[in-house]
Amino acid sequence: MTASIGHGVDEIAEAVKEQCRRVAFTYRTQFTNLPAEELARRLTDIAPGDLDMAFFVNSGSEASEYAIRTAVSYWRERGLPGKVKILGRTISYHGMTMGALSMSGHAARRPDYGSLLHAFSFAPPAYAYRFALPGESEEVYAARAAKAFEDAIQNEDPGTVAAVIVEPIVGAAGGVLTPPAGYFARLRDICDRLDVLLIIDEVITGMGRTGDWFASSYEDVVPDLLLIGKGMSAGYSPVAGVLLRSHIVEALREGSGVAPFGHTFSGNPLGAATCLAVLDFMEREDILANVRQRGKQLEEGLLSLATRYRCIADVRGRGLLWGFEFVMDQESKQAPDPALGAAGLFVDECLDQGLLVYPAGIAPLNNAVILSPPLVITEEETRELLAKLEKALRAMERHVK
Ligand code: PLP
Repeated sequence: MTASIGHGVDEIAEAVKEQCRRVAFTYRTQFTNLPAEELARRLTDIAPGDLDMAFFVNSGSEASEYAIRTAVSYWRERGLPGKVKILGRTISYHGMTMGALSMSGHAARRPDYGSLLHAFSFAPPAYAYRFALPGESEEVYAARAAKAFEDAIQNEDPGTVAAVIVEPIVGAAGGVLTPPAGYFARLRDICDRLDVLLIIDEVITGMGRTGDWFASSYEDVVPDLLLIGKGMSAGYSPVAGVLLRSHIVEALREGSGVAPFGHTFSGNPLGAATCLAVLDFMEREDILANVRQRGKQLEEGLLSLATRYRCIADVRGRGLLWGFEFVMDQESKQAPDPALGAAGLFVDECLDQGLLVYPAGIAPLNNAVILSPPLVITEEETRELLAKLEKALRAMERHVK
């Protein structure tokens, strides 16, 4: 997910070294720096719509915290200080810090902090495999799931809700839950009608993972704030960021003019130089084209595996982000006994083959896995990935029966 262009790429190492020699650190309240300015320009150029502003932090969790504070400040500056709630979804993950975790519907990661978390509410997920009604079309389910989201905002009273936060494709919490077509366009419309900001968390899906620079572009949706992380620096530096529509920044600028949301290392020149070198590499090598081609190959291979291995179901994903679930049989969709720990077992079987997959799924079932290979994977390596996966599935059949 993060080491998206592979390890040890010389030109990235050189760019970091170069920047280190020039200036490795500037403090954001006194200075800006050229790499951060250039990175903001490059990212807002490739971002959808009028996401014309950028702020850089050091992790996806910090990007989430920044989004919470910005949303609340935005409404306060506009004379609506009562809009302070953030609505997440019941199956979601936005980070480990207290604010980020508070809006994450990730049962396994929350319990230890129970009463310390903010009491944010959650909307239902868009998860067709488990929640669409028998025979329900994708379009009808999209409308129903979006309506459920709208009802959740109404239940809270939109006058108290600052923003909603959603992953375009749910990662760790669900195991690559792709939304039904039309769902995101409807969420955009709901947020506009109810005067609620839409935050889209592309920490996993951004920076080419799904075959577009941003998954939001897939449905032509422009969020008010878009979060990025992971592949942004391809793991060569701890960097994440938030892209914002101009109207958000203007409200702060024309209001109090104060936006006290930074950290010591925000907009760090070393991190920004790393990201610029990664962007150069990705553009020159046309990595998005590779993601689309290899994504197709992976999709076909996974669908073929699902016809031969009845213990997996609902192959889902886009670009080079894929997942599936373990089931007792594809007809009943019944998940294996949680005591079996299906995802964990499979991770181990894959590791025996030298293949890393990520365990996911809703607790306590935890029966899904995520495949998120580097975006530079070749045709031959994709074949190898599928072959290793098949060996692991063969071993898995001993457990799930
Ligand atoms: N948002 C999403 C969708 C994530 O998957 C993650 C991490 O996995 C985060 C936010 C938090 O990012 P970080 O681990 O960099 O704090």
